[in-house]
Amino acid sequence: MQVKIETNEKSARRIMVSACLCGVSCRYDGDSSCRERFRILLEKDDCIPFCPEVLGGLTTPRPPAVISSGDGFSVLDGEAGVIYRDIDGDVSAEFIKGAEAALRLARIIQPPKIYLKERSPSCGVYNGKGTPGVTAASLIRNGFAVEPVE
Ligand code: SF4
Repeated sequence: MQVKIETNEKSARRIMVSACLCGVSCRYDGDSSCRERFRILLEKDDCIPFCPEVLGGLTTPRPPAVISSGDGFSVLDGEAGVIYRDIDGDVSAEFIKGAEAALRLARIIQPPKIYLKERSPSCGVYNGKGTPGVTAASLIRNGFAVEPVE
């Protein structure tokens, strides 16, 4: 079956933004990281919000997670994992699934820029450790323009 996706002029120029920056309460602690300029963009339907951890199947709230070693590129390549910070548990599969979903969305939307919340093991371009999170690594590897937002 062939699926046709219609895009119009507006959707073609919309940016993508980490959903928590737009005021969506999808952070691990059930809060958001709302930045006014992105909240206004969402209100005007001028951006596409996305949360890789929720797209990967994790609940909100959820225990905080960290990349075990290396960075998001290592996780994508199967050389490192994502684990819960304070309890036992490996969530590598969920983080990779979320990164794949974000990449699929970006390939459809073709955004001129993707704004990503800093210090996140998913979205962080610097991941709090000077290296990218899993979704940021996937988007960078596939040639999308990403910009970190503190
Ligand atoms: Fe979701 Fe990314 Fe925000 Fe974390 S930083 S809550 S993964 S959108």
